[in-house]
Amino acid sequence: MSLEKPVRVRYAPSPTGLQHIGGVRTALFNYLFAASLGGRFILRLEDTDRTRSDPAYVQNLYESFAWLGLRWDEGPDTGGPYAPYVQSERADLYRRYAGELLDRGEAYRCFCTGERLERIRHEREASHSGVTGYDRFCRDIPREEADARAAAGEACTVRLKIPLDASGPSTCFTDRLLGEIEWKNADVSPDPVLLKSDGFPTYHLANVVDDHLMGISHVLRAQEWLSSTPLHVIMYRAFGWEPPEFCHLPMVMGQDGKKLSKRHGAASVDEFRRQGYLPEALINYVALLGASYEEGASYEEGSSQRKADIYSLEELAASFSLDKLNKAPAVFDYQKLEWYNGQYIRMKDDEALAALALPYAGGIFAGNEATAAERRVFTAAMPLVRERAVFLPDIPAKLAYLFRDPPAAPTEVFIPQKLGLAQAAALLRMGRELLPALAALDDAGAEALVKERAAKESVKLGDLLMPLRAALTGSRVSPPLFGSIRLLGADRALARVDRALAQMDRALAR
Ligand code: GLU
Repeated sequence: MSLEKPVRVRYAPSPTGLQHIGGVRTALFNYLFAASLGGRFILRLEDTDRTRSDPAYVQNLYESFAWLGLRWDEGPDTGGPYAPYVQSERADLYRRYAGELLDRGEAYRCFCTGERLERIRHEREASHSGVTGYDRFCRDIPREEADARAAAGEACTVRLKIPLDASGPSTCFTDRLLGEIEWKNADVSPDPVLLKSDGFPTYHLANVVDDHLMGISHVLRAQEWLSSTPLHVIMYRAFGWEPPEFCHLPMVMGQDGKKLSKRHGAASVDEFRRQGYLPEALINYVALLGASYEEGASYEEGSSQRKADIYSLEELAASFSLDKLNKAPAVFDYQKLEWYNGQYIRMKDDEALAALALPYAGGIFAGNEATAAERRVFTAAMPLVRERAVFLPDIPAKLAYLFRDPPAAPTEVFIPQKLGLAQAAALLRMGRELLPALAALDDAGAEALVKERAAKESVKLGDLLMPLRAALTGSRVSPPLFGSIRLLGADRALARVDRALAQMDRALAR
């Protein structure tokens, strides 16, 4: 058995915005990778950008992942052996490691002022030289001189010495998904800043130091970070450390091939949650973004016999492997996600679904909040709507007629095709007679009863039921009628029919 490093992976967001679906994908893949190998999943907050980081976004991150049901083994809130897991609380450490690179001759102090950097940028632009980045002006200042200037209080940054030629013209590393990557050192940012003049680290320094100190074995992150990796590898070498394994995950795009953003639709977890998605659906769908689980069994758009990969978090964790990743970018398909949502809605029992849908039910009950009796009716109504609901808010929207009398419908709504108002009123009276019995029968019994009556009166079943449905629900399209009658109860149903009959009689009298 080889003595491999224990599997430790991390999600390292910068709290500079709402949790985005791309971040969730990165976190989820790290989580699944750790879970599939019995490793540990770590949350680390990369909040070194003091102007853009905001505690509100940290809160949003915690809430988003709590809702998604995704937990880390170590993190700022859970603690762990490598605490603190918040970079702003580790500033001394980064200063120490920047000092170590200075001592090793792998970094240098730079005293260039903002004005100087600005000036050379302008000069280069004006001369169309095409050269960008720092001109390495301070790279060769002798160490003692630089130390003395810093000790005297002169502001300085610490920059990494990108090897110019001695260690070869390029940096190579292996990406678990993309294979061998060779990057010309000339294309790496010339001597990037590691420590800013305020003593705070840049992303690169803090990220590499922490991945090393926290024993991170694999870095799974979005492909947009690929261009930072040569620089990180150079830093690992400068420290004399072994780099982790890298695996850059395929990007998540909108249908137009651009990086997924608000322009494409909901992109933040908050937004999906507000729209009435279930966390299980989001997890299931996001797990397939850039990975394929089972050949053959996949969602087929537009087919009546839709098949799909329906997996719980546990099932995903059991079968996740980096071999299942795709190189090509993943395209976010809102329709497919909606389909998943509908599937997960169907898997909920009445109690669970009612509890999930209730927060979206504002305004459908008689008072501000559901009474205990209304709650019971709401729960009992789930079988009427479960099959057709795509989003949670669809559920209360379809059931409002159970709790408040629907607004009076125009008289035409009660009239079946090819019939007149008088016939419609007669049909509704026929339906009215059946109501007390229908309210007490199950679906099969109710169906038998209305069929028998329609046959006896020689009327079409649809013509008998249509005015009744319209009178009870205010619309020709509604959840199943017999279930609705049972939930309304005979008295309420009779009162609504009487109201409709009165309206029809008034119209007939005109
Ligand atoms: N803080 C970076 C981010 O916001 C982390 C990138 C990485 O995983 O190295 O995504």
